[in-house]
Amino acid sequence: MLLKTLSEARGVSGNEAAIREILLPAVEPFIDEHRVDALGNLICLRKARRERVAGGSERVLVAAHMDEIGLIITDINSDGSLRYAKVGGIDDRTLLSKQVLVGEKAVPGVIGFRPIHLIGRGGLEKKADISQTVVDIGASSKESAARLVQVGDYVTFRTGFEVLAEDGLRCAKGKAFDDRVGCAVLVEALQGDYAFDLYAVFTTQEEVGLRGARVAGYRINPDIAIALEGTVCDDLPKEKDADVTPVTQLGHGPAVSYRDSSVICDKNLVRLITETAAAEGIPWQYRRSAVGGTDAGALHLVREGVRAAVISVPCRYIHAPVSMVSLNDFDNAVRLVKAVLTHLEGGLEA
Ligand SMILES: [Zn+2]
Repeated sequence: MLLKTLSEARGVSGNEAAIREILLPAVEPFIDEHRVDALGNLICLRKARRERVAGGSERVLVAAHMDEIGLIITDINSDGSLRYAKVGGIDDRTLLSKQVLVGEKAVPGVIGFRPIHLIGRGGLEKKADISQTVVDIGASSKESAARLVQVGDYVTFRTGFEVLAEDGLRCAKGKAFDDRVGCAVLVEALQGDYAFDLYAVFTTQEEVGLRGARVAGYRINPDIAIALEGTVCDDLPKEKDADVTPVTQLGHGPAVSYRDSSVICDKNLVRLITETAAAEGIPWQYRRSAVGGTDAGALHLVREGVRAAVISVPCRYIHAPVSMVSLNDFDNAVRLVKAVLTHLEGGLEA
């Protein structure tokens, strides 16, 4: 299963080569050309398979980012433990007591935390201070650690993909669903026949500022751009008096954004997406929050501006060592993206 392979692969921002190496053979049978640019974006072109409709789109760019949040080694201590920094937005509390893999050699390690016996009265109420934590690979000296790890090595969480309860929701747990779900949806969407040139762009460095998308968008200069994402899902019980409207809910279908912190989506493109979902009987939901940015934020601002939107698969516990998706939402996202691309052939109302 491609989603499992992508989820378990290791590709923190700036180090996406392993993800490219999985994606390229997966898309190669369906594309006419590809290139890897200076920032590591994998840009794939599937040329129009049917005659272009007058007034229809010419070049459509669909993006999904390959990078995941993680850590980077900043120093090796004299006792062989490793100092680290976060790459991308991570809540410190989710790092405690996690298993990780370090560097190209995938050296196993843990981010240990002081046992409850030693925290003392009142200590449990305090916010965890991750500056007191290290990545512990079990090395006994700086020299022995340095044989395995170097400063600048990336650290990923050690989380296996697994399909959980085989009930109606078809939940799966794993890491990096943000945005390997988007990558897997894009591989499926590439297999449709459309009346425009489809540029499937697997972008880099989204989690540190939408960087890959910016240069890829400039090169392609598309009429329309759609970012595919794994997005916030907060449908579990909340504290009393909290705002009870979730951003998205698992199993309610792909989420359609009308805005996020990086973009106000093109009104007519959003309408085309939601009307397509209704016409095809595909469940969908709005993404009911503006928190977080997406590659659409970079893509809509290239050159003279690009009409852009975002379609997402809801992910519980996003930006953490483990997250969860519904494979139903995944399948419906594939259906929706393919149907939207087909409907885009007729062009978009100005
Ligand atoms: Zn993302």
